[in-house]
Amino acid sequence: MSLFKRMKKAYQAGFGPSRFQAARQIIHCPHCGRDIFEQSRALLNTSGLTLLGLDWLNQSASILICHHCGYIQ
Ligand SMILES: [Zn+2]
Repeated sequence: MSLFKRMKKAYQAGFGPSRFQAARQIIHCPHCGRDIFEQSRALLNTSGLTLLGLDWLNQSASILICHHCGYIQ
């Protein structure tokens, strides 16, 4: 296998859409029932820090985006 193919395979395995678990249960989309998600981060803004222009100090949360229908949880 070429280096490019190995890098592509590693990228797809590590960063692409995949299955996730919580409390040893596979997470399923409540809208369509599929189990493949894209993981991302979302900033949890507060009005006080936004007023001061310091949004970057707010905490962030992990979000899962259903690969099939786009439902976010
Ligand atoms: Zn879905």
